[in-house]
Amino acid sequence: MKILLATNNKHKVEEIKEIMGEYARMFKTLSDFSGLPIPVEDGKTYRENSLKKAMHYHKLTGLPAIADDSGIEIDAFDGKPGLMSARFINPSISFEERNKIVLERMKNVPDEKRGAKFICCCVLIYSDEDIRTEYGVFEGKIGYDIKGDYGFGYDPIFYLPKMKAYLAQIPPEEKNKISHRAIAFEKIKMHIKGEL
Ligand code: IMP
Repeated sequence: MKILLATNNKHKVEEIKEIMGEYARMFKTLSDFSGLPIPVEDGKTYRENSLKKAMHYHKLTGLPAIADDSGIEIDAFDGKPGLMSARFINPSISFEERNKIVLERMKNVPDEKRGAKFICCCVLIYSDEDIRTEYGVFEGKIGYDIKGDYGFGYDPIFYLPKMKAYLAQIPPEEKNKISHRAIAFEKIKMHIKGEL
């Protein structure tokens, strides 16, 4: 069986393939198809968006499809940016600039109020009647610096107190064991194995 991994984000594709291990051999990716229209991500929840993406590509290709939607929720911003994480502050700035602005806006926030979490919702569609959904949550803090070269997005400002390190300082093989995406996709792997 082939499954379409329906994301255009290269970082996510790499992470998901590593998490899925030998099951990644089942994947086709969007780069195996040309000219597919891009779905509109206008859902009000992570689940709505991941379902929209997976259903869109499932209908276009006829293949079982997996899509995820993710974001970071920052306590000091009342849970924002959440669904808007990819476009937070200004859609056209780089993540380096965005992360600098987040730290600047949080410069007076005390340690105990710097909590944040990444959320991932993953949908696997076998058919219209057979849709599986799994979530992963990964808790940490917004640090005081921008550190590390691994990962993407908010990883360089996401501090993990237990590991005394920023997420971008942790090599991919470690991140891919503990992240929100790892938690959600480990469960998706069990669906594929027939264990869930
Ligand atoms: P989407 O799931 O493609 O809508 O985008 C999610 C956005 O959330 C990304 O562009 C990043 O800004 C952020 N994000 C999600 N997961 C991660 C992660 O593992 N590290 C850093 N940023 C992430």
